[in-house]
Amino acid sequence: MNYEIQVHDKRFVPYLSSEQIDEQITRIATEISADYKNKKPLFIVILNGAFMFASDLFKKIEIESEICFVKLASYKGVRSTGKVITAIGLDIELYNRDVIIVEDIVDTGKTLSQFLPQLEHHHPKSLKIAALLHKPDALQHDIKVDYLGFVIPNKFVLGYGLDYDGLGRNIDCIYQLVE
Ligand code: 5GP
Repeated sequence: MNYEIQVHDKRFVPYLSSEQIDEQITRIATEISADYKNKKPLFIVILNGAFMFASDLFKKIEIESEICFVKLASYKGVRSTGKVITAIGLDIELYNRDVIIVEDIVDTGKTLSQFLPQLEHHHPKSLKIAALLHKPDALQHDIKVDYLGFVIPNKFVLGYGLDYDGLGRNIDCIYQLVE
């Protein structure tokens, strides 16, 4: 990992290495594979930020499972707009399914607090959340992350699918904003 990088007008320093990320994803995949044996879970990935996490997680899932991708909200700049756009791409029947939502980061929790009721409306058998990152200090809604990679402080992060104004998603580890 290089020490400091510049993206647009902001500076970032390394925070979580690709090895650390891989280790936590392996752990989560093992837990899910055990918990959902013979249940054929459906993973619903929230785009764009979760694409890299979802891809690495799904490769490590050892049981029969399905995956689909939805586009929900846009996140511009270093503050969540909190605006949830309607779910696009949710074309699989959820009734009686064991559903796992895959999210990059739970920050204020607003995105999921708006999306979960939409899913519950379809009466899945179960509904759980897998998130790579969680900022408990920023949480403003009653959201419980069932499978979590890392608890992180309330600072903006970038890389591994997460962007700052469109850039940085391709970085294979996670950087933290220098304030
Ligand atoms: P929430 O609704 O929980 O506040 O946040 C929803 C979305 O905001 C996340 O899925 C993510 O795309 C974006 N987000 C929240 N915190 C960060 C952050 O620190 N860095 C980046 N790049 N995106 C974030």
